[in-house]
Amino acid sequence: MFPKLRVVLVQTFHPGNIGSAARAMKTMGVERLYLVNPVSYPDPEATRMAAGASDLLDNAVICEQLDDAVKDCSMVIGASARLRNQLLTEVTPRQLGEEVCKASLQGEVALVFGRERTGLHNEEMASCTHQVSIPGNPDYSILNLAQAVQLLCYEVFTASQTTQPQAAAEQRDYPTLEALRGFEGHLEKALEASGMLRGASHKSLDRLSTLFRRARPDIQELGLLRSMISRMEKLGRAQQAREAEDKPPADSH
Ligand code: SAH
Repeated sequence: MFPKLRVVLVQTFHPGNIGSAARAMKTMGVERLYLVNPVSYPDPEATRMAAGASDLLDNAVICEQLDDAVKDCSMVIGASARLRNQLLTEVTPRQLGEEVCKASLQGEVALVFGRERTGLHNEEMASCTHQVSIPGNPDYSILNLAQAVQLLCYEVFTASQTTQPQAAAEQRDYPTLEALRGFEGHLEKALEASGMLRGASHKSLDRLSTLFRRARPDIQELGLLRSMISRMEKLGRAQQAREAEDKPPADSH
């Protein structure tokens, strides 16, 4: 039902949770499962808990890094019980349903879930374009991993019953995470060459990266930004060359 949607589980500790997550997905028509560094997999407990959804386990893609599992996605939503990265755009579970349905008409979409004990680490949130938190009892709102998967897949399923396919026509084309990262790398190189990053911590780059995730440039806008940087790099190089020419040789007085 959702050929462009994948669920990514990061370093799941209990294989039973992988099986339960697969079952939760299949009941909602979501079939593509990616496992990043699972602690024990394949495992009979995973197969047992998957029940009639063991085909999802057979087809699961195993990756070493989260980036490998999401780099071709144009929307990557990290699920976290407590939102630590306040700078990424946050969606409610209900909005997630609609956004995923719309975005997956155009590109690949990933829902990312963290470890049972420690959730998603900050550098993993940095691979996300959006974040979601399932609201609940303020004193205890941490769901079991597979239940969190169930709830968000249910929202996607429910939204799919009402989201109009023609919404695709209104959709802009968004770059993949890999393309965004390519842009960020280009920007970093240019800022370094300009001397702007001298002494500054990489925190400024992280800030810029979340700024671009929030702004969500489409493919054309990202192309414009890249051309701007290339142009400025060229001007910078020309200016440096002129300054070098104007400078008297070191041995002249
Ligand atoms: N102690 C961890 C909880 C991990 S629960 C933490 O504080 O982050 C395992 C995973 O289930 C989480 O990483 C998240 O992806 C998902 N999850 C659990 N409860 C959630 C909630 N209320 N909202 C969104 N995701 C949740």
